[in-house]
Amino acid sequence: MALTPVAELQALIDAHIGRRKRVPPVETVPVAEAAGRVLAEDMMSALNIPSADIAAMDGYALPAAAAAGSRWRIVGESAAGHPFAGAIPEGGCVRIMTGAVVPPGCGGVVLQENTRVEGEEVVLLQDMAEGSNIRRCGEEVAVGATVLSVGRILRTADVMLLATLGIGEVPVHAKIKVAVLSTGDELHEPGTPVEGVDQIYDSNRHTLMARLRTLPVEVVDLGQAADDLEGVMHTLDEAARMVDVVITSGGVSVGDYDYMREAVLRLGAIHHYKVAVKPGKPFVFGQMLQTWYFGLPGNPVSGFVGFDLFLKAPLWALCGATEVPQPLRFQATLATAVKKSPGRMDFQRALITQQDDGSWLAEPCGLQDSHRVWGVSRANAYLVLGEDCGDLPAGSAVTVQPFGEAFL
Ligand code: AMP
Ligand code: MG
Repeated sequence: MALTPVAELQALIDAHIGRRKRVPPVETVPVAEAAGRVLAEDMMSALNIPSADIAAMDGYALPAAAAAGSRWRIVGESAAGHPFAGAIPEGGCVRIMTGAVVPPGCGGVVLQENTRVEGEEVVLLQDMAEGSNIRRCGEEVAVGATVLSVGRILRTADVMLLATLGIGEVPVHAKIKVAVLSTGDELHEPGTPVEGVDQIYDSNRHTLMARLRTLPVEVVDLGQAADDLEGVMHTLDEAARMVDVVITSGGVSVGDYDYMREAVLRLGAIHHYKVAVKPGKPFVFGQMLQTWYFGLPGNPVSGFVGFDLFLKAPLWALCGATEVPQPLRFQATLATAVKKSPGRMDFQRALITQQDDGSWLAEPCGLQDSHRVWGVSRANAYLVLGEDCGDLPAGSAVTVQPFGEAFL
């Protein structure tokens, strides 16, 4: 079977999910808990921001533009939460603090630092232009504006915006259910002693569960399954009735005990099998009943890369997101040579550092086999090497994709 190019597989998954998209139901959460959730309704502003003309600085509110040397009699005060109530007589001004309402009829606020107080009067040390230091009513958000649209992955800046608008509870999509299963007779649970060198600790399930915590999903831990077709089918069948997505690791290659494809095929359908990527050629995408199935290869680094390339964006889409962010990529210079044969895209692991001139240097993290988990931990970025790219000498320009977690 021909290998599908990475972008083609991404588009294929996107098209399947887009055709059969079920938007998760709506629930409300307190605004501070809305970051990282998907907005379920357009958000309209019921307020002007600022709500009135507001002083941007501490100083004196004057009726209009005024010249250096002019004198104004202080007739009252306007503080945040305590506006000036009276009328300002001819030649009068109002002491005003940052955040206070500018009294009606005032044309500007002169900065305190640009004045001198003499008894009950204030003398300008500089000219003050019309409109100085006033934040105008509605200049940031006008009543009725749609500030955020349905499907937005909410950020902490959106919490600031929504709370500013007085919104205490935010409608978001409910979390989707994602089940995680590891397969392999050799697997052993971390935290318990292994009995022989033929056993290994199950890292994939824990890695997957940790990575899923950054998404609005409820994780269902299915534990480990032995390499046994009947057993795996039973577990998958039960899961498919319970959750929106099943992710498995292992058992998708062509070995004698790789049963995952057979199991999914018997329970549903397989839409895709092999992708032109390194690490991680086998990548199964299918469905059982209404449940999507993603089968990652067992090699830990392959599964790690596969999650970034083929799972993150579809999971966000299934969570209701309409604009899924692109990975951040930019150019860097290779510190050492890289080995690569043309034919498959390669996501090698590297350490990138910014140089004094602002450019980035990329140092590959040693050998790149798909069992080298320490290398991924040491790395802070992928080297994104195109399908047709071959060996690259030191000094070559390469595309890098930082690990978000590795940067503040
Ligand atoms: P498989 O895809 O099942 O052929 O497994 C490929 C390699 O990944 C083998 O060396 C497995 O022992 C290893 N492997 C499979 N599942 C896991 C897992 N859950 N955690 C760590 N390594 C695994
Ligand atoms: Mg296996």
